[in-house]
Amino acid sequence: MITLENICKIYDRNCVEALRNVSLAVAGGDYLSVTGASGSGKSTLMHILGLLDAPTSGRYLLDGQDVSALTSDERAALRGQAIGFIFQSFRLLQDLSALENVALPLAFQGVPERERLARARRLLDAVGLADRAPHRPRELSGGQQQRVAIARALAAGPRVLLADEPTAGLDPAACRDTLALFDRLHADGHTIILITHDPAAAARAARRVTIHAGQLKEEPH
Ligand code: ADP
Repeated sequence: MITLENICKIYDRNCVEALRNVSLAVAGGDYLSVTGASGSGKSTLMHILGLLDAPTSGRYLLDGQDVSALTSDERAALRGQAIGFIFQSFRLLQDLSALENVALPLAFQGVPERERLARARRLLDAVGLADRAPHRPRELSGGQQQRVAIARALAAGPRVLLADEPTAGLDPAACRDTLALFDRLHADGHTIILITHDPAAAARAARRVTIHAGQLKEEPH
C-alpha cells in the first residue's frame, strides 16, 4: 500500500538532512509504530507519509501511484480521501458537536447531509460514544475527544490512519482505551501508522521501526 524508496528530505532553510535514504514498505492491514528521539525526523516522516510535504528526493508510492512529485494542490486533494489523521491535540472544532466533527470530512467529500450524519453516528457508536453525539468537545474528557477524533479520521474511509503522539496528552486509563481501540481497528483490517515516544504504546504495534538522525531501522519482533 505504501512504498518509500530512498526518501531524503533536506530543509533548505538550514540544510538539515531530516530524512536520509528512508525506505519502507507498509502493506494493507499493517500496524506499524515509529519511535525516535526529539529531532530524529518523526514529524518530517509523518508529513511526507501524510502528503503534507514532498520529499527532496526518492519515491513515494501510494497504492501504486507515484505521489512524490505531486503539486501541493494534488497532494491536498488526495490527502483528504487517503489519509486519516489523529493528533495529540485532537484538533476538534470547538463550535461543532461530536457528531458534526465526525461528519465534517464527509462534507468535504460532497456526501449529502443526511448520509454524512448517519455515517458519523455509526462511527461514534463504533468508538463507544453514541450517547455523546450532541456534546461539544469541551464537554468531553480527553480520552473521549480522542475517540471522536479517531471516528473523524475514519469517516472518509482512508487507506491509512496516521496517528501522531495520540496518547501523549491522555491519562493512563484514556491511554489504555485509545490503544485498545487501535488494536480493534487493526483487527478489523485498518492500516495504522503510530508515531509515539511511548515505548509501551510502540510495543503494541505488530511492526516497530525506530528513527535515528533521519535513518529508519525496523526492530525485530
Ligand atoms: P521529530 O519530529 O522527531 O522531533 P523533526 O522531523 O521535527 O523531528 O525534525 C528533524 C530535523 O529537521 C531536526 O533537525 C529539525 O530541526 C529539522 N526540521 C524540522 N522541520 C523543519 C523545517 N520546517 N525547517 C527546517 N528544519 C526543520
